[in-house]
Amino acid sequence: MTTRSADAVVIGAGVIGCSVALELARSGRHVVVVDRGPAAGAGTTSASAAIIRYSYSTPDAILTAWEAAAMWQAWADHLGGVDPDGMATFVECPNLTFRTTNYEPDDMLARWREYGIDHEELDADALGHRFPALDGGRYFPPKPIDDPAFADDPDGRLTAVLCHGCGFVDDPMLAAKNLAWAARRHGATFRFGAEVVAVDRDEVVRGVRLADGTSIEASIVVNVGGPHSAHLNRLAGVTDDMTIGHRPLRQEVFVVPAPPGTGLDEGGAFVADVDLGQYFRPHPGGSMMIGSTEPDCDELVWVDDPDDNSPYPTVEVWETAMLRFARRVPDFRVPNAPTGLASLYDVADDWVPIYDRSSLHGWFMACATSGNQFKNAPIAGRFMRSIVDAVMNGHDHDADPVSFTGPRTGRTIDLGAFSRRRTRATTTNSVLG
Ligand SMILES: Cc1cc2nc3c(=O)[nH]c(=O)nc-3n(C[C@H](O)[C@H](O)[C@H](O)COP(=O)(O)OP(=O)(O)OC[C@H]3O[C@@H](n4cnc5c(N)ncnc54)[C@H](O)[C@@H]3O)c2cc1C
Repeated sequence: MTTRSADAVVIGAGVIGCSVALELARSGRHVVVVDRGPAAGAGTTSASAAIIRYSYSTPDAILTAWEAAAMWQAWADHLGGVDPDGMATFVECPNLTFRTTNYEPDDMLARWREYGIDHEELDADALGHRFPALDGGRYFPPKPIDDPAFADDPDGRLTAVLCHGCGFVDDPMLAAKNLAWAARRHGATFRFGAEVVAVDRDEVVRGVRLADGTSIEASIVVNVGGPHSAHLNRLAGVTDDMTIGHRPLRQEVFVVPAPPGTGLDEGGAFVADVDLGQYFRPHPGGSMMIGSTEPDCDELVWVDDPDDNSPYPTVEVWETAMLRFARRVPDFRVPNAPTGLASLYDVADDWVPIYDRSSLHGWFMACATSGNQFKNAPIAGRFMRSIVDAVMNGHDHDADPVSFTGPRTGRTIDLGAFSRRRTRATTTNSVLG
């Protein structure tokens, strides 16, 4: 049996894993990244809508997203160079969020004002004037399409918040590849088709074993396995002290031609529409992506085995998505057949990620990203480096959580907010976080 060694093993080469690898390699460690898949970003990262917004429920989450956005906006600086194979691009696009029952974001807006996040409030008339392609009717609560009340007239008019300086990354898989390229320049090595099947440990972690029989010895192992990360935590035997659970949730996203007046080059926004239980964002080239905000009336499809998830969308979910979208955008013409994909979120009990150490010294986790952490990938790597450095130097991160100073604002982010042992955070209990 071949045995190799490294200072740190990162399990998973998604956008978060590559970012962790980059920052650990920058710290001078010899990093080996192992991924059972074929390429960086080929896991759930490749399915991401890659939206960058600042609309979160908790102050640390808002500040994290705001800090990370500056890294996307100066991507070459963040990477330390220009990847000759192409660079992912931050595309600016405003974020329109409707105020509706159960979604009154006044606390969040107070934070936005404090951090200098540019936004404006739109009353019903201003909403109609700025976004004439959208029906501004209030339909809450979201309903299944076979509910006769689905077709009811609205019971009022919506108001909204329009946030500027938001956007999306045009190619999420390329973003992961960019991070992998930058990590390699600091000496990191990547092994694809390399599945971790066992964890070597005694009272501390010793390394990992791969399906091909090889072992990698390391005193630091970071679990960034996306929807497989709960399985990996079980393999390591570290779940007992976690107060926050996480598990894979199936998600379907659809792509349609952007209806007139909603496209990127027509001033279209990406819209968080909790009123109808959906989000949608325009894409370059005239298309529109449509996803769900997990309204109470929709059954959530939890998946026991992430390898057992069909990548194809279902007609039922597609029809619901199409009719909800048509409700909000009356000029939309439903296509003949579904175009889209099905992937997985790794969802935490409170829809907040876990960036933390574990009960096993040397085993760390960056997981439970809950469908909303693509945007935070650049800063998540830095969070993990701060935690790894502190813990490996003997600091008790559980008792005295490490804090991180955001380079954009100089403000402090309490990394205890992402602890595996936190009290459940109060959030929207949805992908909005
Ligand atoms: C449909 C969809 C839409 C989304 N939209 C947004 C959005 O608009 N904005 C936003 O901020 N976030 C969004 N997200 C969330 C975001 O994309 C994810 O949080 C992020 O991509 C997760 O990256 P990751 O590196 O943790 O996981 P992944 O990209 O899933 O990578 C995990 C890797 O681990 C590997 N792996 C697993 N098990 C093993 C093993 N045993 N051995 C070796 N390798 C292993 C896998 O092969 C995989 O490559 C969305 C997610 C989805 C699915």
